[in-house]
Amino acid sequence: MKNITVIGAGTMGNGIAHVCAMKNHTVALADISASALEKALATISKNLDRMVKKERINEADKQQTLANITTYTDINKAVADADLVIEAATENIDLKLKIFAQLDEAAPEKAILASNTSSISITKIAAATKRPEKVIGMHFMNPVPVMKLVEVIRGYATSDEVTNTIMELSKQLGKVPTEVNDYPGFIANRILMPMINEAIYSLYEGVAGVEEIDTVMKLGMAHPMGPLQLADFIGLDVCLSILNVLYDGFGNPKYAPCPLLVNMVTAGKKGRKSGEGFYQYTAGSKELVVADSFKK
Ligand code: NAD
Repeated sequence: MKNITVIGAGTMGNGIAHVCAMKNHTVALADISASALEKALATISKNLDRMVKKERINEADKQQTLANITTYTDINKAVADADLVIEAATENIDLKLKIFAQLDEAAPEKAILASNTSSISITKIAAATKRPEKVIGMHFMNPVPVMKLVEVIRGYATSDEVTNTIMELSKQLGKVPTEVNDYPGFIANRILMPMINEAIYSLYEGVAGVEEIDTVMKLGMAHPMGPLQLADFIGLDVCLSILNVLYDGFGNPKYAPCPLLVNMVTAGKKGRKSGEGFYQYTAGSKELVVADSFKK
């Protein structure tokens, strides 16, 4: 597992590249967008600076980590020597099926192909390749350098050997891997998203306001963030799309997305990234302000 290729250099891809390079893997970071690669290297460098400042690593460690990363806009070149490919491209099923068919052609036969997908079936992704036993989910959490969990998802055909290799590698990366089977939402989102949806239903039905709902869950359940704030952080469009995966996958009305969530996404209120969700976000401000529509 020396050579690791990361496909997609966005929020998750740059974090995964950072963590692998820090543990002295040779990392090929690939993206179709040259500017995404540039931005990813700048983000990794900034995050490493923060670690140097906190004296968790020294300047030489930082330089070595950066030297371990090479960027590519050509995916075939990026995977030519890969022992493991971790795909962290945009969450879109057609795109992922296309990428995995390409990886299967271009990566060495021995290479394990992992996906960081939050909600797409690993079994479906594996079926786009001729090596389904070597396809697995590696679901890192955001921000990757900070969060300890890797949800390791076994597809229907994933072999024991590949699962064990990925469990061991995740530990070596300083993470705590947890093995789960491939069913809609895996474990993390199967439990998290209904909780967020229930919080939105409680607001929709007027049981309590935004701050009250978040306060109950923060102070009463010791959650570091309330469910509505967390939904804004994840992105309301992402929450909606994962709830739809659960709803379609299980055919159970308990997963039906709350109409308020559907309306907010349709109106372009996607949470922090769009400037407004349950809270409103002003550039540079750390203060949590309830959005006008939810003020009493
Ligand atoms: P992002 O939009 O920040 O980054 C995606 C990157 O993929 C972009 O830079 C884009 O240019 C690139 N890309 C698109 N098509 C590509 C292709 N054909 N080849 C190479 N690169 C391509 O997305 P993200 O938030 O980093 O999410 C990536 C994956 O991680 C998704 O599957 C998502 O569900 C999953 N995930 C996200 C989070 C999160 O909190 N953001 C958490 C866990 C898992």
